[in-house]
Amino acid sequence: MRNLLGGKGANLAEMASIGLPVPPGFTITTEVCSAFYENGNAYPDDLAGQVATALHRIETAMGLTFGDANAPLLVSVRSGARVSMPGMMDTVLNLGLNDETVEGLARSSGDARFAWDSYRRFIQMYGSVVMGVPHHRFEDLLEQSKRTLNVADDTAISAESWRDVVEGYKEIVLRETGKHFPTDPQAQLWGAVSAVFGSWMNPRAHTYRRLHDIPANWGTAVNVQAMVFGNMGEDCATGVCFTRDPSTGENIFYGEYLVNAQGEDVVAGIRTPQPMSALRAAAEQRPMETVLPEAYAELLRVRDLLEKHYRDMQDIEFTVQSNTLYMLQTRTGKRTAAAALKIAIDMAREGLITQEEAIQRVPPASLDQLLHPTLDPNAERTQLARGLPASPGAAAGAIVFTAEEVEERAAQGQDVILVRIETSPEDVHGMHAARGVLTTRGGMTSHAAVVARGMGRVCVAGAGSIHVDYKAQTLTAGSHVLKAGDWITLDGGTGAVYVGKVATIPPTLSGDFSTLMGWADDVRRLRVRANAETPDDAETARKFGAEGIGLCRTEHMFFGPDRIGHVRQMIMADEPEARARAIDALLPFQRDDFASLFRIMSGLPVTIRLLDPPLHEFLPHGETELVDIARALGQSVEALRARRAALSEANPMLGHRGCRLGISYPEIYAMQVRAIMEAAILVSRETGEAIVPEIMIPLVGMKTELDRTRKAAEEVVAAVFAEQGTTLEYLIGTMIELPRAAITAAQIAEVADFFSFGTNDLTQTTLGLSRDDAGSFLPYYVDHGLLPKDPFVSIDREGVGGLVRLGAESGRSTKPSLKLGVCGEHGGDPDSIAFFEQVGLDYVSCSPFRVPVARLAAAQAAL
Ligand code: PEP
Ligand code: MG
Repeated sequence: MRNLLGGKGANLAEMASIGLPVPPGFTITTEVCSAFYENGNAYPDDLAGQVATALHRIETAMGLTFGDANAPLLVSVRSGARVSMPGMMDTVLNLGLNDETVEGLARSSGDARFAWDSYRRFIQMYGSVVMGVPHHRFEDLLEQSKRTLNVADDTAISAESWRDVVEGYKEIVLRETGKHFPTDPQAQLWGAVSAVFGSWMNPRAHTYRRLHDIPANWGTAVNVQAMVFGNMGEDCATGVCFTRDPSTGENIFYGEYLVNAQGEDVVAGIRTPQPMSALRAAAEQRPMETVLPEAYAELLRVRDLLEKHYRDMQDIEFTVQSNTLYMLQTRTGKRTAAAALKIAIDMAREGLITQEEAIQRVPPASLDQLLHPTLDPNAERTQLARGLPASPGAAAGAIVFTAEEVEERAAQGQDVILVRIETSPEDVHGMHAARGVLTTRGGMTSHAAVVARGMGRVCVAGAGSIHVDYKAQTLTAGSHVLKAGDWITLDGGTGAVYVGKVATIPPTLSGDFSTLMGWADDVRRLRVRANAETPDDAETARKFGAEGIGLCRTEHMFFGPDRIGHVRQMIMADEPEARARAIDALLPFQRDDFASLFRIMSGLPVTIRLLDPPLHEFLPHGETELVDIARALGQSVEALRARRAALSEANPMLGHRGCRLGISYPEIYAMQVRAIMEAAILVSRETGEAIVPEIMIPLVGMKTELDRTRKAAEEVVAAVFAEQGTTLEYLIGTMIELPRAAITAAQIAEVADFFSFGTNDLTQTTLGLSRDDAGSFLPYYVDHGLLPKDPFVSIDREGVGGLVRLGAESGRSTKPSLKLGVCGEHGGDPDSIAFFEQVGLDYVSCSPFRVPVARLAAAQAAL
């Protein structure tokens, strides 16, 4: 019932129903939240009555009464949306305390220190969350009291001193808000409920929703639950843990806890949490396994039950009150890509889930994280400090101390590292824009760690030996003093922080990675090829499992220093002979290019696209360049300038490009076809393996265009075969990247052996949206829901997708054997891949690093 009760409420109810120890409580549903916002921030009429009844049931279960002056029931009020939004929403604990009930709590618990500690916590949380008092006002006063009392730890403060702190807190509330702290428990309860609903619309929740595509109308639920206390003495504790290691996926009980503390102490980084398992503890640490053995044993039992029940790694919160364990939360644990992979494979091997489920468990886009660089072990380095390895990968960048500045600098293309004492949800936007995040306080479950892991950002957390001075804009560690703007390097895999920029190396992939890829390959139907033109890219693609090249953009090969001169000579030539000479000079280069691709891709299909971009792209743009290049070409500056002017177009993307060039300058395509066929014959002879080259004509809008270019190509092929005294199988196909081509695909298919949908241009021309200029307004469209996603990233299924479907169906109606692929950027986007699977394409082609992503996405789409 997650949609109705929110994740937290649904899982609390489920844990209670499978017999786990959960304090009694009730949930105000997400429907109430939606109704609240729809009705001008007003509650449904019967809500108050239902809340009163539910509260009464908690009282009965606990044998306590809310607001009772002798033995008061205290409750927690916590938000819980459908999907977990860590740290985004607000929580109030110890609700129901006032000057009278605190005395009752002191008497009934026999522990005045505990009662007054709980009271000050309540004012602190309620004051900031519900009443909007800046949190640090309370922290400052507490720090000051600790200094006066000469104590380091909160737990050393006496009841009497907490009483003074409470008085101080109340004064702060009055001073900051002009209102007295509310004493009536019912008013407190409704204040907290309203604050939770209100927090659904606060800016940080809004940011999180935007980053994670969560609709605003889902709303949050509110959970009201009897308090249990982890701060009632040395046999009490509170903790946060994961049923497996969320960084590596290792099957060990992983987490942190604190004795004599309440939940927020663990994540707030005020005291240093201790490890759960004795195995993972250093000598000076106090693991829960040895400090609270009974509760720990019970927790191990619960861990097992939870994994069996949910069949996934869980992230849990618990409290131990007087050696008794209570579960406060369970949810599917966020994890790194490496952990997701390991956990999925392990659980499938343990028989907890099926192989198909394991495939579904790993988000394809997260594989990017595994393909992250790590530090070069041989690189020189100076270690600055060490923190916790909170989120893997290596990242270098300039030190920046605020999220705002991170965003500004990242927008200018700079690599920056966000350095904070600790992060809060306000920093999320900056964490997103940074290369990495470094904090000096907090553990593996601190805000920075959890959020960075979820985003795939490199993070080193809790590097306690670093001192950050926001005012002076410096970071000090030992003898090193670094300023804002100085470079550091983070190793999120070890927690090390280095001075300056340390060299990185490309990732090596684990055995689990190839296992999952193997499972995915077994179930997927779509083939996956790569877009590649350099030997390097082709090799990377092959290493990542590409099943051929789906797009070789030959124009990229024209820019090499050894050939651009010939290309320019070709463009400048007035006489056919001069043009022919320049083109002939290019032939051996192209033949070598293609031969090396055929060698690397031996046994696999390679699609080579003939020249596509308008010719002016090969001419210099600036004046100084113009002079130099004219000299190099042996041309006058005026002649070069005149040629450039003649080639300039108002709308080059709709101008003289693609097959239109091949029709105007058939010699260029003829040279390319010759180079392809000669290279194919050469490599076939070399390797004994049949190469089947696929020649692709770009930007075809009409059958007549493909007819003409195909015939010209076939003449060249026939000539090459005659010269070489041999033949080869080959294909001639076209890109479908103009709406007219998709609409008339049935005719075009008569002369095409294959179609490759160029969804970049097809998006551009279908939406009338320039690939190069849309950046100035497209983000607004996405932010404001005019478009669900950037259509250049994820295919616009209704519009562009409709044309792809039409093109595929009509093409196949003419020629059932027609091979269909896609080579626009969408070929590497999981959501688009799911669509291409539905349409029944044969393959997708994407950049080499996206190949694993596409293989997994194709498998998920097939399941
Ligand atoms: C396309 O248009 O989708 C395509 C792959 O070609 P290019 O991006 O080179 O225009
Ligand atoms: Mg294109």
